[in-house]
Amino acid sequence: TKFVYAFTEGNKDLKDLLGGKGANLAEMTNLGLPVPPGFTVTTEACCLYLENGTEPPALRDEVGEHLAALERQMDKRLGQADDPLLVSVRSGAKFSMPGMMDTVLNIGLSDASVTGLAAQAGDERFAWDSYRRLIQMFGKTVLGVDGELFEEALEEAKGAKGAVTDVELDAADLRTLVDRFKDIVRTATGRDFPQDPREQMDLAIRAVFDSWNTDRAKLYRRQERIPGDLGTAVNVCSMVFGNLGPDSGTGVAFTRDPASGQQGVYGDYLQNAQGEDVVAGIRNTVPLADLEQLDRKSYDELMQIMETLELHYKDLCDIEFTIERGKLWMLQTRVGKRTAAAAFRIATQLVDQGLIDEAEALQRVNGAQLAQLMFPRFDLTAKADQIGRGIAASPGAAVGKAVFDSYTAVKWSRSGEKVILIRRETNPDDLDGMIAAEGILTSRGGKTSHAAVVARGMGKTCVCGAEDLEVDTKRRQLTAPAPDGKGTLVIDEGDVVSIDGSTGKVYRGEVPVVPSPVVEYFEGRMHAGADDADELVQAVHRVMAYADRVRRLRVRANADNAEDAARARRFGAQGIGLCRTEHMFLGERRELVERLILADTDTERSQALDALLPLQKGDFKELFEAMDGLPVTVRLLDPPLHEFLPDITELSVRVALAEARKDANENDLRLLQAVHRLHEQNPMLGLRGVRLGLVIPGLFTMQVRAIAEAAAERKAAKGDPRAEIMIPLVGTVQELEIVRDEAERVIEEIEREHGVELKLTLGTMIELPRAALTAGQIAESADFFSFGTNDLTQTVWGFSRDDVEASFFTAYLEKGIFGVSPFETIDKDGVGKLVSDAVADGRATRPDLKLGVCGEHGGDPESVHFFHEVGLDYVSCSPFRIPVARLEAGRAAA
Ligand code: PEP
Ligand code: MG
Repeated sequence: TKFVYAFTEGNKDLKDLLGGKGANLAEMTNLGLPVPPGFTVTTEACCLYLENGTEPPALRDEVGEHLAALERQMDKRLGQADDPLLVSVRSGAKFSMPGMMDTVLNIGLSDASVTGLAAQAGDERFAWDSYRRLIQMFGKTVLGVDGELFEEALEEAKGAKGAVTDVELDAADLRTLVDRFKDIVRTATGRDFPQDPREQMDLAIRAVFDSWNTDRAKLYRRQERIPGDLGTAVNVCSMVFGNLGPDSGTGVAFTRDPASGQQGVYGDYLQNAQGEDVVAGIRNTVPLADLEQLDRKSYDELMQIMETLELHYKDLCDIEFTIERGKLWMLQTRVGKRTAAAAFRIATQLVDQGLIDEAEALQRVNGAQLAQLMFPRFDLTAKADQIGRGIAASPGAAVGKAVFDSYTAVKWSRSGEKVILIRRETNPDDLDGMIAAEGILTSRGGKTSHAAVVARGMGKTCVCGAEDLEVDTKRRQLTAPAPDGKGTLVIDEGDVVSIDGSTGKVYRGEVPVVPSPVVEYFEGRMHAGADDADELVQAVHRVMAYADRVRRLRVRANADNAEDAARARRFGAQGIGLCRTEHMFLGERRELVERLILADTDTERSQALDALLPLQKGDFKELFEAMDGLPVTVRLLDPPLHEFLPDITELSVRVALAEARKDANENDLRLLQAVHRLHEQNPMLGLRGVRLGLVIPGLFTMQVRAIAEAAAERKAAKGDPRAEIMIPLVGTVQELEIVRDEAERVIEEIEREHGVELKLTLGTMIELPRAALTAGQIAESADFFSFGTNDLTQTVWGFSRDDVEASFFTAYLEKGIFGVSPFETIDKDGVGKLVSDAVADGRATRPDLKLGVCGEHGGDPESVHFFHEVGLDYVSCSPFRIPVARLEAGRAAA
């Protein structure tokens, strides 16, 4: 194996072997651009070293050969006393790991060569400064000396001189400092700073190898899901100096504006400086455009090179360069990071330039970027007074007066106030308040807590689990730790707060907000063709069209009212994949549900059901109308009944107090009994879903009847209803068969009554492991499957979806056990395996089985790709995530 590649031997496609930096240096070299000569030690050499604890034997010789070639090319030897070749040794992995690994500059300097450098450069101060930088960097990163020791010595030297910055230290000061640094190395390591240049180089290469496995690098990789066995490459590059006088300098540049995508001259330049000075902020940089005045020749050359790079990479590139005494050198390039808005604009600009095609344009953007563009945002330039931070549960920026209960939220918002609903956690009772509020803030609960799921569904800003904030609903107060760490500060009802659902940050007072033009566009309030439509909207419009053209997955919405359905349709939904009927049982209807639960006799029960029937029917008719011509999957009642009853503690207290006053009311007593009767230790695993339908006589029948009659009436009104009935929480085909037989009976009856054919289909959710494992049998009785990946994740992992993110997930994320919650992105190996096996088994039984997913994962970018790969027919997600799902489905197919 070959362990070392000269820059002339590599190219940009060898990132696995040469790392990102090395591959791009080689690419630029071969494009004929001015790259200081050098070579790259491969990731393979690194891996072998890490495996065996010692360099592969051939490496030393290969490095020697490449060094000799470099010395011939440069016409000087590494560390040559009268005119030293100096090199930098830098890490460079396949995936960029910013700041995680090591770099050493000025390798080759020694007591002998420092004077040679001074003579050659004609600058003694420069030479001694370079030498002290070498000892400092080498001491710290290669020899493991505490970096503080050098910093302190440097501060002392400045203090002794009365200097503020190191520029004020002269050659003699720096020479003294070098001695001091050498002492530090000797004391800390028990050895002298190595004077042999080759030894310096070998030790530096080894240090870069070792830096692959520092704790921080390992942690970073776990979090970013970068495999741990890739290793890093090492780039050895001849040094060029930007700090050799006013005709030298260093800078960064972008081929386009990374913030807007606009073409032009973007970047910063610092005269008479090295790269690290820019970072240290010792002096202020000037805009790159000013270089034109300072050094016309280098400027023109740089512009030329930037154009070459962009045409070559067919993308925005960022660049690091140095000018050494009027000579331009390229030190690095890569495809540059950009904002979400720039990503969309650049993608379409490049299509227009004929540089990339539509399929490639889709790879240049992603759903996370689109999601970012869809949320109103806080104006980040404004001043803001942060008081806490929670989980970024549903993005957006919301400002309003603090309210601590649903009732006040509704009352205040009716009178025109904007409010933020603040609760310890929310439950279905808070729904009205959540609808009325601009945003929701909770101090408990994770990304799949009630507050988070419902808020995301509504496209409403939500920060949940802000644990350092104390919510006291009785006193109507929110307490936060004071910023100085001493005491607390209090937000009372009516005080203005601002919450950022994209960062989880909570602010006191009003932070200004800017609306999203992209949402205005999706809502149809702004037309991509219109003169005033800005470039961003045009770009989004075009990219969405590319995605819709190629995607195979259809995209549906999780929606349970006509308003959400209509919005979903504007956003491009091709039907409803999940209508949760329990949301139709709340509010004023709750009393009817209570009557159903309390019913002692069949008559009472059917009276309650009869009262619910027309209400449900009305809801379905509206929904079918909003989605006319498109499929609407209605799921029969899922949550345990106790969710529709009052809280057990509150009710017990009320009854006890009433009993003490001797005016206990009959209904409350019956309610309390029912609450006790229905109380379950683990309601998620209890009487819910199909189980309810099997034990509460008439419940599912009523729902099926409401669906069928609504469909029949829509037909009579010349509509085109396409209802699909879905049974939740099925674990075995027998459950499904019983419900199915009864449903078919009801549907036939209504078809006869109305003289229509309804073509209703009947399917099931696959959301329990047993359902997935027996999918082949279940498919015998189901027209379709919809994977409920929320419950499936909950039951496969044994994690409570409502509690887990607030309890131990943070620890799991920190330890790198997950990079992301499995409730957010599908766990491919576990939950995903059940899904793909169930797809295969289901289709084996019934080749025309329709397959979808309606858990939260249906709108998650990475998960959408997975669902595309396993061959689902559609994903279903909350209305606001539909554009993201469309885009990702397109990207998966392109
Ligand atoms: C699911 O479990 O994934 C699902 C969609 O149902 P729900 O979230 O209503 O339990
Ligand atoms: Mg479920």
